[in-house]
Amino acid sequence: MQGVGFRPYVHRLATSRKLDGFVRNAEGGVVIAVQGDAAALEDFMKALTSNPPPLARIRRIRIVDAGLDSSRGFSIAEASAPISEFDFAIADAFQAGVDRTLVAPDVATCGDCLGELFDRNDRRYQYPFINCTHCGPRFTIIEGVPYDRPNTTMAAFAMCGACRAEYEDPGNRRFHAQPIACAECGPVARFAATDGSHGSTGVEAVRDAGARLAAGGIVAIKGLGGYHLACDATSAGAVRRLRARKHREARPFAIMVEDAAAAARLCHMEESEAAVLESRERPIVLLRRRRSLDGETESAAEEIAPRAGRLGVMLPYTPLHHLLLKAAARPLVLTSGNISDEPIAFDDGDAHERLGPLVDARLWHDRLISARCDDSVMHVAAGAPAFIRRSRGFAPAPIETSLAFPRHVLAMGGQLKNTFCVARDHTAFVSQHIGDLHTAAAANSLARGIAHFAALVGVRPEVVVHDLHPDYVSTRLAAEQGVASRVPVQHHHAHVAACMAEHGVSERVLGVVFDGAGLGTDGAIWGGEFLLVDRTGFQRVGQLGYVPLPGGDAAARRPGRMAVAHLWSAFGRELPPAAAELVAGLPGGELALVRQMLERGINSPPTSSVGRLFDAVAALAGVRDVAEFEGQAAMELEAVADHDSSRAYAMEIAHAGDFVVADPGSLIRAVADDARAGVTAGEMSAGLHNGLAQLIVEVAESVRRRTGVNDVALSGGVFQNTLLLSRAVARLQGSGFDVLTHRLVPCNDGGLSLGQAYVVALSGEVA
Ligand code: ZN
Ligand code: ZN
Ligand code: FE
Repeated sequence: MQGVGFRPYVHRLATSRKLDGFVRNAEGGVVIAVQGDAAALEDFMKALTSNPPPLARIRRIRIVDAGLDSSRGFSIAEASAPISEFDFAIADAFQAGVDRTLVAPDVATCGDCLGELFDRNDRRYQYPFINCTHCGPRFTIIEGVPYDRPNTTMAAFAMCGACRAEYEDPGNRRFHAQPIACAECGPVARFAATDGSHGSTGVEAVRDAGARLAAGGIVAIKGLGGYHLACDATSAGAVRRLRARKHREARPFAIMVEDAAAAARLCHMEESEAAVLESRERPIVLLRRRRSLDGETESAAEEIAPRAGRLGVMLPYTPLHHLLLKAAARPLVLTSGNISDEPIAFDDGDAHERLGPLVDARLWHDRLISARCDDSVMHVAAGAPAFIRRSRGFAPAPIETSLAFPRHVLAMGGQLKNTFCVARDHTAFVSQHIGDLHTAAAANSLARGIAHFAALVGVRPEVVVHDLHPDYVSTRLAAEQGVASRVPVQHHHAHVAACMAEHGVSERVLGVVFDGAGLGTDGAIWGGEFLLVDRTGFQRVGQLGYVPLPGGDAAARRPGRMAVAHLWSAFGRELPPAAAELVAGLPGGELALVRQMLERGINSPPTSSVGRLFDAVAALAGVRDVAEFEGQAAMELEAVADHDSSRAYAMEIAHAGDFVVADPGSLIRAVADDARAGVTAGEMSAGLHNGLAQLIVEVAESVRRRTGVNDVALSGGVFQNTLLLSRAVARLQGSGFDVLTHRLVPCNDGGLSLGQAYVVALSGEVA
């Protein structure tokens, strides 16, 4: 990657060993020429790989002999410098398999820069845009390659003499730091009250924003990849106001706290979770919140993430955030700057227009954002970090694959939590989070994002992969890419392939995909699937039995409706009085309406979705009848689970030849009995989790007996549920299976695009 301080590092290694030569950027990496004492050369080679700069990635080193040169000393040569004889001598050696230099993701402010930020004697004291070769904005300021200042949004700022001197000094830690800046020459922070009553600039602006937040105000804040909406996280009133203005009734907000110690005061935190929280990618980390807080904080916490067991917490990742947290002196809610499901605002004009009416003030600056990039979201699941959303800090970092992509691939992703993926050679590049594609703004963002992103990483798509669903916006856009070769891939096939791609697997695996919804090859809505996947494609070897999905997609927000559908199916396509009683409390007319839909078969496609099974059980357990977003009921059902309970709702498994169908009816009848007997929601939740883990093992064992397949890949959005994931992994491992879980991309639809692309690599399909 360029701009990560590799050349100065080489310069130091060479000069300290009195070696002559040069280092220069080249297509695909750097070229180093060294000559000198043989022992010193050997020592240099050893040192080269031992302690490279934190952001550098050494993928391959190629060594060739060249003739002696008469020049003395060691220099850092410009990439544009005349090509020397030496370059010609090694050019051939580099021809084969040369890769392009990569664009780096954004990196949180490093310790050295923080030290200067709070050092009164430093010339960048309290300068909100301090950065260096090891930290700062990258992906979100890059407009084109190569990564040089003129190709970034920093091109608008002419370096002052002092910055220029640092930029040109190989011994300086800001040597060739493209976003280098200071208060003399760089971006300026600005504060403005919405009512026009007050405005300020520089560090004053940050202080004013902090004061406004501390006083209960709602402030739009320009970050790295877009705007946030912020308020005081300890004030229930402020959080309620923000919720009302954002039209976001229940979705959890993320909070930003000053450091890990502050996070530990709000949440339980394992060492592994603290490590993710403090990593230089600085994602939002989902942490179990503490129950024993003082009164005021408890009520605020409830407003921040109602009925959720976990809080999304992050640490400051830009100097502006560090200064702001100090100024506000309290945890802040920092949620994406949008209204409900629209993409976050990143353009200043757009932000002013869309967010202006929502906020009391704005804190922004004049460094433009080239690409929208949401915060990443992670948690520790089954003992290791995993993604809920992979975006800022990670995109566009490469994901290496064991199989090569036969052609340059563009994979369009799904409809919800969309990402796209471009791939070539042995490398896949998954885009930042694009989001749900329901709005025109999101669809535009996808259409525009592809061209920019593909150009940055050097992919010219020759084949386009998309979901089977004809109505996904991503599917429709696939036809508009000007690429003749288009490949549809079934949704859950892609989920499994993504998991295989991450683990470098190309041999046959059993994919267990527990998901919300994806179109199946039979026209049904799949989501409880057992798929054998290999290089020839996929074979469905088992499923959760179908039940009707009343109202189609709309059912995802109606857990109560799913309870009716499941009861109706479980009791032989009718609703006996004892069962009807359990759903009698549904909001006005819903029960009668759903019954009618079921009996007449209106708008009720068959579904095998485990996500919807969670909804049904959540409703029967009294957790929730109406959801505001898909997965809300399931999240709450997981949160109340009694972890010590060994209750397990077994499912009857019917075999039809080699095909297995797990009957949700048997499970639902047991749930209904328990609901009538007054069993607690915690017990019932445990029963569902344990029952599903047991089902996975039973089906996997039956498939293994028949096929010998011992690798099981767990995928689909339901596996964001850490209780289910850890129980399933433990039981599978206990039965001798090798278990693959997602570690590099989300198990939800954010990981689909990688899987879609990998299906092309798996098939080895060539034009
Ligand atoms: Zn730094
Ligand atoms: Zn300067
Ligand atoms: Fe999915």
